[in-house]
Amino acid sequence: MRSFTSFNLQYAHRFYGFNGEAQYLHGHTGKLTIEVEDTINKGVNMVFPCNEIKKTAWNILKNFDHALILREDDPILPAILAVYEKQGICNGHPQNTMKGKAFQTELATAYPDCRLVVTKETMTVEGMIKIVHCLLKDELNIAKLTFTSGDNAASQEYEVHGSMDRCPLCGVALDEEGYCPKCGYKK
Ligand SMILES: [Zn+2]
Ligand SMILES: [Zn+2]
Repeated sequence: MRSFTSFNLQYAHRFYGFNGEAQYLHGHTGKLTIEVEDTINKGVNMVFPCNEIKKTAWNILKNFDHALILREDDPILPAILAVYEKQGICNGHPQNTMKGKAFQTELATAYPDCRLVVTKETMTVEGMIKIVHCLLKDELNIAKLTFTSGDNAASQEYEVHGSMDRCPLCGVALDEEGYCPKCGYKK
């Protein structure tokens, strides 16, 4: 069975080199839906607590929220960084506190101090699904990702292998030693 959750990400981007309005810098509220598949955990009668899916995903994906997402070869990128540098906000600011954990994958690199994500490919809804799967595939048993942004929407299904060991008391994933990081249960 599946448990799933959705949340919004507000971001600015553009499609560099695209013949259309999207080549201009603009913004969206994108909606991401993450479906997790596993057996039903008998102790709590659920696959996975949805708020925990959200928490796990948000820890990483808040890098995309109120952020600028640009392709690595976009010439607007050095121009914006030069302005941030001149303003002294490139390497952080006391009011820039809602930061995610920095990450680097082959598809994207997050720079939380300047609220920027640099991508290898254009950040279309399809591109975002590839980035999100790469970031979360080891954290969650992802069966499907759906991302919508304006009139654009895409989804991808994934084959789920195996089952995660989950706490029978609160439902979250147990660590390698069989401890529940949330309630302290030991297998
Ligand atoms: Zn757009
Ligand atoms: Zn627990």
